[in-house]
Amino acid sequence: MIDNSRKLTLDDTFRFACYKGIKCFNRCCYDLTLVLMPYDVIRIKNNLGLTSTEFLKKYTKCQIGYNSGLPVVLLKMRDDLKCPFVSDEGCTIYKDRPSSCRLYPLVRMRSKDEEYYFIIREEHCKGFEEAKEWTVREWLKDQGVEKYNEMNDVFMELISAKYESGKTLNQDELQLFYLACYDVDRFREFVTSRSLDVEEKILKDDEELVKFGIRWLKQTLFDRK
Ligand code: SF4
Ligand code: SF4
Repeated sequence: MIDNSRKLTLDDTFRFACYKGIKCFNRCCYDLTLVLMPYDVIRIKNNLGLTSTEFLKKYTKCQIGYNSGLPVVLLKMRDDLKCPFVSDEGCTIYKDRPSSCRLYPLVRMRSKDEEYYFIIREEHCKGFEEAKEWTVREWLKDQGVEKYNEMNDVFMELISAKYESGKTLNQDELQLFYLACYDVDRFREFVTSRSLDVEEKILKDDEELVKFGIRWLKQTLFDRK
């Protein structure tokens, strides 16, 4: 599915268009393995007016990543295999849709000194038959991905710290990881009950609290500053 014959940088171009009325409309919102990042959870739970705990319980499942050994949060598909947020009109959480939905048909790769993209090609997606041409940079801006990339990079630093430490987390540590990265509303209670030293303005802001949680995990679990 990933076309790795073309490595795209920000100024490279590709042809694609997606709009209501295209014959494959909504085909991509079906039978997905859709991994949610911490910032995705914040955006969607706030869109739905749920706490992170309620959202995670109702809409997601968690498994331990085969390679990373860390919790991975996946959006649960409905019994008919459709995404829980797809409707005849399109995505019902469109303004807060997850980063992978925004990026599609691109997938982002990032190493220490390089950022690049590959195209995902799927037979059912007719967007590639359209004439509209984008640079990768234009696509990211159009889809509102930049903020997501920024937050995902902060999270990826934690994953790197785990790999670099070579440590295997025990059950309690895995639960802490899940709590601080994904269940921000319960993490807020945890921070308060443990009297951790957190400024009030950070405590009130989901995004800042997740960033704090990531820094705290790096230090607590992986001895990193
Ligand atoms: S979240 Fe929205 S865009 Fe993403 S798969 Fe579900 S319906 Fe489609
Ligand atoms: S063009 Fe591709 S991304 Fe757009 S609705 Fe069709 S399958 Fe989904």
